[in-house]
Amino acid sequence: MTADAAGDVTAAPVQQSFDGMPKRLYSASPSKLLAWLDCPLRYRMQYLDRPKPAVRPQRAHTSIGVATHNALRDFWDLPPAERTPTAVERLMRKSWIDVGFRDPDQSADWLVRTTERVTAYLRGIDRDRQPLGVERTVSMRTKTLAVTGRIDRLDDRDGELVVVDYKTGRSRLTDDDARTSLPLALYAVAAAGMFRRPCVRVELHHLPTGEALAHEHTPESLQRKVAEAESIASDLRRADAAYAEEGAGAPLFAPRTSPICMWCDFRAHCPAGQLVGPEKSDWAGLETSAAGGNGTADGEVGTATA
Ligand code: SF4
Repeated sequence: MTADAAGDVTAAPVQQSFDGMPKRLYSASPSKLLAWLDCPLRYRMQYLDRPKPAVRPQRAHTSIGVATHNALRDFWDLPPAERTPTAVERLMRKSWIDVGFRDPDQSADWLVRTTERVTAYLRGIDRDRQPLGVERTVSMRTKTLAVTGRIDRLDDRDGELVVVDYKTGRSRLTDDDARTSLPLALYAVAAAGMFRRPCVRVELHHLPTGEALAHEHTPESLQRKVAEAESIASDLRRADAAYAEEGAGAPLFAPRTSPICMWCDFRAHCPAGQLVGPEKSDWAGLETSAAGGNGTADGEVGTATA
């Protein structure tokens, strides 16, 4: 562990490596760290292979996630008096991405449903309290790692900093999801460093249910999360070096098959993943039937920059 729990936040570029200088920091977003844990082969295709292998077209649940995030972002640009259901409807229509749906009727139906969810969610929060940040890019660094990501919303609630992450997937969440989230913990550390005050509360706001799942970190639990990120980054440093030396055939990039393979954007390039099961349809993430479903149907819009 090389950083205190408050984190060392900086906008400075990652240092270059010269003889006699400390080792170059490993630069990553939370999404990049988690991609390695999900599947080393997918990580390779997403972050190392160039040209990048073609990915499948966007699914409907991703379109909904992006549109929801964009509408919620634009909502806070409105003057408080204009933060009305009519404005939400307009923002949702403007943000809507008509990609991945079975047909125009399904798209129209989900535009109405999503608008209702966003409106209900916004009814339940203090719309007059301007967030401290919306889709704000934050960064932190330790002695070995530089993390950059984007927070959906950063609240200042009577002096308490709160990291808020929007979730639009169908699966219900629990407070444990907020507790174990690596990105949320890293954002809290980054926000604390940026604003020079503690930030220990992280929240997942689940739009389909309107639930807010929360966790209050301790300095120790944040320290553990930073150490976890450093450990993953250490593996990634080794993997990247192996790729540079041995290329795509390096054994570190073995496929890690799981139900995720049925949703994987890269499965067309992965025979092992194709054996797991049939590919999910573009709109499977919208269906309430759980047949064959898994958490990736909730393929959330990454808030972290790659
Ligand atoms: S299909 Fe599965 S094993 Fe293959 S790259 Fe994707 S997640 Fe990895």
